[in-house]
Amino acid sequence: MEHNANNSSALDLTLTEPTNAILAAIVATSDDTIISKNLEGIILSWNPASERMFGYSQEEAVGQHISLIIPPDRIAEEDYIINEVKGGRKVDHFETVRRAKDGRLIPISLTVSPIIDANGRVIGASKIARDISERKRADEKQAVLAAIVETSDDAIVSKTLQGIITSWNKAAEKMFGYTEQEAVGQHITLIIPPERHDEETYIIGEIVKGNKIDHFLTIRQAKDGKLIPISVSVSPIMDGRGNIIGASKIARDISEQLSLQAERARHYEEVKALNARKDEFIGLASHELKTPLTSVGGYLDIPSRVITDEKGLLFLEKTKRQVKKISALVNDLLDISKIESGKLSFSLERFDIREVLEDAIELVSYSNDQFDFNLTSESEQLFIEGDPHRIEQVLINLLTNAVRYSPGTSRVDISLSNQNDNALIGVKDYGIGIPEDKLEAIFSRFYRVDETRNQASGLGLGLYLSHEIVIRHDGKIWAESQPGEGSTFWVSLPLKRRG
Ligand code: ADP
Repeated sequence: MEHNANNSSALDLTLTEPTNAILAAIVATSDDTIISKNLEGIILSWNPASERMFGYSQEEAVGQHISLIIPPDRIAEEDYIINEVKGGRKVDHFETVRRAKDGRLIPISLTVSPIIDANGRVIGASKIARDISERKRADEKQAVLAAIVETSDDAIVSKTLQGIITSWNKAAEKMFGYTEQEAVGQHITLIIPPERHDEETYIIGEIVKGNKIDHFLTIRQAKDGKLIPISVSVSPIMDGRGNIIGASKIARDISEQLSLQAERARHYEEVKALNARKDEFIGLASHELKTPLTSVGGYLDIPSRVITDEKGLLFLEKTKRQVKKISALVNDLLDISKIESGKLSFSLERFDIREVLEDAIELVSYSNDQFDFNLTSESEQLFIEGDPHRIEQVLINLLTNAVRYSPGTSRVDISLSNQNDNALIGVKDYGIGIPEDKLEAIFSRFYRVDETRNQASGLGLGLYLSHEIVIRHDGKIWAESQPGEGSTFWVSLPLKRRG
C-alpha cells in the first residue's frame, strides 16, 4: 500500500521524451541538489546545485559511492535510507549532515524517493537535499532568545493589537500568579485593575502608531488580587513585511524599589530635620552667649581704671584678650546661623579695598607684633562695591590664619593688584602648609585639616564664612600651598568703576 502511495512522488522513467527534456531542465536549474543513485549506492546523476553544494564536479561524483559525501559517523544512515527505498518508501525531510569536498559539514534536509522502472521495480533512489544551515542558525538564535525570555526576571508578555495575550514567560507566571496556559488566549485586562482599563487603550494607540512606551509606571493586579506597582516598557511587534501585529511588554516589579525610595526619603527628611534643629541650636546658643559676653567685655573696662599694679594690669589684659577671642568665635557662630537661615545681611557701598586691607593688616599686626606684614601694591586705590566690614572680616581671617598656622616664622607677604578688572589680594605665609587634597575642603563648614589641629584651636568656620562673603560679592577665594613651605590664599573681587 505504501508502495502505491509513494508512486506519485517517485520519478517515473516511462515519461515521454519531451517531458523528460523539461524534467532534465528543471533538475539542471534547481537550487536544490538532486542526485540519483542505484541500489548499491553508486551515484548516477549529479546536478549543478550538487556541484555547488558539495564541491565535487559531475565528473568527479558520478560513478562514486554516495559515501563520498556522508561523514563516517553517519554511514549507517545510508543503510536505513536504502532499505526504505528498496521497500518502495519515501524518506521525507530527513535532517542530517553531509560533507563537502573541502571537509565542511553541511546541515541538510533530505528527501529520498525510490526510482521505479517500467516494470514497477525499484532500481535506484533520487535524493533532493536542501542546505538548512541558514534555518539552523535562525533556529539557534530563536532558541537563545526564547531562553533569555524564559529566564528573565522581568515579566515578558506579548499580545495582539486586540489585546489577546500570545505569550507569557516564567517571570510573568511568578509575578501575576497565572500560568502560561491560564493567561495565553485571555485579554490583557486579566491583569489590569478595572479603574486602569483606559491605559490599555492609550498603550495600544501608541503601539499602532509604531511608538514605544518606556518605563511607564503603573499598577497591575495579580491572580490573588494583590496590586503590584510595575515599570513597564511596551514595543510594537512587526511581521516580516513591517506591519505592526502586536505588542511586547516587559514589566518589572518595583515594589521593593518604591519602598526603598520611601525609606530614603524618610531618612533624608529626618536628617534635614536634625540638621535644622542643630542650626537652630547653634543660633540660640551663640545668641545666649553673646549677651553675657558683651557685659563681661564692658565690665572689664572698669577695673583697668582702678588697678594700678603691673601684674594686675597684665592679667587683666590677658583676660580681655581671651574674652575677645570668645567674642570672635561667638560672632562667627552667629554668622553661620545667619547664613543657614538666609539672614546674613550686607551693606552695599563703593569703597577702596586698599584702605580696608591696610586697616586689617594694622589690626592683626597689633596683636602679632613678632610678625612682619609686607604689603606690595601696584595701585594707589582700587574701588569695589560691597560691604567693607564683611570684606575686612575675610582679610582679618586670612591674616590671622597666616600667623596661626606658621609657628616659628615671622613673615607674611601681602599683595594687591588689578587683574583684568578684579582686585586680586594674596596672603602668603611660610608656615606648615596644606596638603593638596584638602585645598578645597578647608572652605567647608567646621572643616579643619587633621594635621593642623594641634597648631591652633578653632572651629573651622573662618574660611567657610570668608567663602560665603566672597561669593556674595561675586568674587572668588582659593588657596595654593606646598606642605612644609607655606600657603598663599587668594581673593579676587570685581572692581567697581566710577559712576
Ligand atoms: P580654623 O582656623 O578656625 O580651624 P578656618 O576655616 O579658618 O578655621 O580654617 C580651616 C582649616 O584650614 C584650618 O583648621 C587649617 O587646618 C587650615 N588652614 C587655614 N589657613 C591655613 C594656613 N594659612 N596654613 C595652613 N593651614 C591653614
